[in-house]
Amino acid sequence: MNRIIVLNIKFKFDKSEGVVHPVVLLDDKNMVLIDCGYTGFLPAIERAMEENNLNCGNLTHVLITHQDHDHMGALSDLKKKYPHIQVIASKRESAYISGKIKSLRLEQAEKMQTNLPEEQKPFGLAFCNILKNVQPVKVDLEVSDGDVFDWCGGCTIIGTPGHTPGHISVYVNQKQVMITGDAATPEKGELVICNPQYALDIKEAGESLRKIMTYGAKEIICYHGGILMP
Ligand SMILES: [Zn+2]
Repeated sequence: MNRIIVLNIKFKFDKSEGVVHPVVLLDDKNMVLIDCGYTGFLPAIERAMEENNLNCGNLTHVLITHQDHDHMGALSDLKKKYPHIQVIASKRESAYISGKIKSLRLEQAEKMQTNLPEEQKPFGLAFCNILKNVQPVKVDLEVSDGDVFDWCGGCTIIGTPGHTPGHISVYVNQKQVMITGDAATPEKGELVICNPQYALDIKEAGESLRKIMTYGAKEIICYHGGILMP
């Protein structure tokens, strides 16, 4: 029984509502959560899992596509409550996720802070503080582009750098489903670079988007933006 379950985690953001889409890969042996939301999101993840008749206690792995706080913010709480869950990330992102190197997003935000107009500085500072409060977590298994796992009948790790240097996507081979993290997002029925203004290397991000498209996936699941059926 191989299933892909897309979670809808809704939240208030300023005056509007936001939504992110962690994904669960389920088979007879494995239950893999791909990305786990912002700091404080563990209860929301648990609720969304329960709505799909799943339980976080049965997760075997959590794969983090990249170091950003909206993808790994809840990782520390998840690992503390369910210490058996194996944390997976790319070799390149591992050093940031585990706190050995300062988050690149925090570096970017701190650099931008000096050039912000006065009235935006409080927001910039608040963002820096959010990033500083993300708790690092040790990565149990480091993966690279092309690595294959037996989850859901067979999955391939696809290196999709650009948004961050070690960003990864996951391709579910049999079902021909691509899980992009922040390497792509749907816009007016097309697949585009997700939040290009935050891409740490926009040229690489463009190459990664083209790489994703070469798979000809039947379904593309984006963390921001949800499902696209090309
Ligand atoms: Zn994101």
